[in-house]
Amino acid sequence: MCKNRILPFGKTLKSYLKEHGEKRPNVSLYCPDKSCKKRILYKHGRYFRWATTKYQCILIPIYRWYCPICEKTVSLLPNFLVPWARVVTASREAAFNRRRKGISFEKISKSIVSPSIGGISATTIKRWWNRYLAQIGRTSIWVAGRLIHFGEMEDLLRFHSKGVNPTYLDTLEWFYFLLQKYAHYFQFNPSLMGYLSFLNTHLPAELRL
Ligand SMILES: [Zn+2]
Repeated sequence: MCKNRILPFGKTLKSYLKEHGEKRPNVSLYCPDKSCKKRILYKHGRYFRWATTKYQCILIPIYRWYCPICEKTVSLLPNFLVPWARVVTASREAAFNRRRKGISFEKISKSIVSPSIGGISATTIKRWWNRYLAQIGRTSIWVAGRLIHFGEMEDLLRFHSKGVNPTYLDTLEWFYFLLQKYAHYFQFNPSLMGYLSFLNTHLPAELRL
């Protein structure tokens, strides 16, 4: 049994490799399982996985921890990656932003990963997009819930589409409206790396984008 956590360190591939290419992040982790009562985890080796940016495809170390009680392993992902995608989150978000503007998967695929390192297929971009749309409603609700918890007084639902049958794209617009508010609470500036890498460090695993 293996769980993943994404923590806000290693903002970019470059800084992660510099800081943690050879050196484990110096953090103490508790076991996420409630019945282990915040047992501190043991360091438990590392494995390597691919991370792809536009011009680089690099093997990076992912450090692991281990709970001696429940025997689960926790892998600590830098915030630019999600477990299921090899391409860094900022690049996936760039693809989503282009698709929102109606650009074809074929055309987007040419701008996300350079052909000089193998490129990426339109089919893969389409798969990401479908997964993204399928999840955006639940993640939006989570973000709206947090905003209300922070004391947001506006009627957030009112900003969702006026139509009776909102489309995925309506929900997507609403999501970005919520995200801007959410980022504002953390004084997070998305100009460098986009919203999703930031948001993924906060989201429960099943809602990551
Ligand atoms: Zn445990």
